[in-house]
Amino acid sequence: MGRSYGDVCLNQDGILILSTYFDHFLEFDPASGLLRCQSGVTIREILDIFLPRGWSLPVLPGTAYVTVGGAIANDIHGKNHHRHGSFGMHVEEIVLARSDSGLVRCSRSQNEALFYATIGGLGLTGFITEAVLQLMPVRNGFLDTRCIPFSGFDEFLQLSQQPGEHFEYTVAWFDWHANHGTGRGIFFLGNHSLQSETEMPLLQGRGQRQISIPFAGAVNLVRRPVMRVFNSVYFKKQIEKQVVSRMDFDAFFFPLDRIRNWNLLYGRRGFLQWQAVVPEQGARYLFNLMKKTMAEADLEPTLTVIKKFGDVQSGGLLSFPMAGITFALDFPAASRKLFAMLDTWDHAVVDLGGRLYPAKDSRMQPEIFFKSQPALDEFLRYKDRRISSSFWRRVTAGNGED
Ligand SMILES: Cc1cc2nc3c(=O)[nH]c(=O)nc-3n(C[C@H](O)[C@H](O)[C@H](O)COP(=O)(O)OP(=O)(O)OC[C@H]3O[C@@H](n4cnc5c(N)ncnc54)[C@H](O)[C@@H]3O)c2cc1C
Repeated sequence: MGRSYGDVCLNQDGILILSTYFDHFLEFDPASGLLRCQSGVTIREILDIFLPRGWSLPVLPGTAYVTVGGAIANDIHGKNHHRHGSFGMHVEEIVLARSDSGLVRCSRSQNEALFYATIGGLGLTGFITEAVLQLMPVRNGFLDTRCIPFSGFDEFLQLSQQPGEHFEYTVAWFDWHANHGTGRGIFFLGNHSLQSETEMPLLQGRGQRQISIPFAGAVNLVRRPVMRVFNSVYFKKQIEKQVVSRMDFDAFFFPLDRIRNWNLLYGRRGFLQWQAVVPEQGARYLFNLMKKTMAEADLEPTLTVIKKFGDVQSGGLLSFPMAGITFALDFPAASRKLFAMLDTWDHAVVDLGGRLYPAKDSRMQPEIFFKSQPALDEFLRYKDRRISSSFWRRVTAGNGED
């Protein structure tokens, strides 16, 4: 679906394999919740069919328009990483088409090294043709949610210690500018509603109105004054809902999917997202560095999301999620000083023992990639020699082929 923000899904001057026609559901066992499907099936399609039957996916990203193949190749995470880890942990089997050996079946007990190289393997170990996924039972299509306002990063850290034990989903939105520069945010919490099917229908908010941005204008509409007003209104609107409220699946998991082509609001130059994770002990240092350098460069993100990842790992050799705090910031892709500032952040991240998320990257230097991927040499043993990508050539500076 090309939903990655950077160049992992691009292959400049080469051939791009599309999974569009690999869109078949193959087998479902209602006793175990195991689903076999082709790799081009999207999360939207899985939910449309299985949510009304009482099944969801254990890991959901911020958009439903991603394919099973893309979700495996980036080992994507959701708001419940502290509970269920990343997508790859719920994949039971993968069928790979490789240029050297044809179709290869791999799982935790068969060709396991290839399986772990493929989870988070950025599409470089072969083309995933199908996969077996473990679905998760839910009672209805709703979530019981809570919003807690907080002030400054330390309060976020305090909040993220406790609620994860009681809430399946946690994530925070942060406004750096508010509170005379201390910043403030909203901590969102959610659990699947436990009310029975007879009391609550297995709806998921389908048929909700979707607005559409028709084209990218010459100018960026997501400008600083607009964002400041938006952030202030958004904050007030959320704290009014501090009491527990009930939201349907789409509103809770995929709010951006309601605005078709929302990225065009940034105009022709577009935007970029910087996402990294660092061990928790380094998170305050990184936060302070980000705050200081943004003030010096007079830059402000249009959106900041912070989340604490749990200490659960899929085993994917190049997987992004690790225990710690992840920061995701959106910026209009406008200025040279932005790129210089992000380079400083990249170095801080690897020095703190963290890493950048390839799915969101379009600019990290090879040095950063090599330093943050200790299993790279092992991964190279399983890379398909005839598969490459713009991302791979960029981050390996041409040294990634054997
Ligand atoms: C609004 C929005 C919110 C998002 N929220 C999150 C989030 O909360 N958490 C998160 O982790 N990510 C998030 N993402 C990123 C997104 O989930 C990932 O980039 C995902 O991998 C995109 O899937 P895709 O099908 O579009 O794959 P693409 O972007 O097309 O490809 C991604 C990678 O998968 C590989 N690939 C795709 N199909 C196959 C296949 N059949 N076989 C082998 N390799 C394959 C490609 O080569 C590429 O390396 C978000 C993206 C958007 C736009």
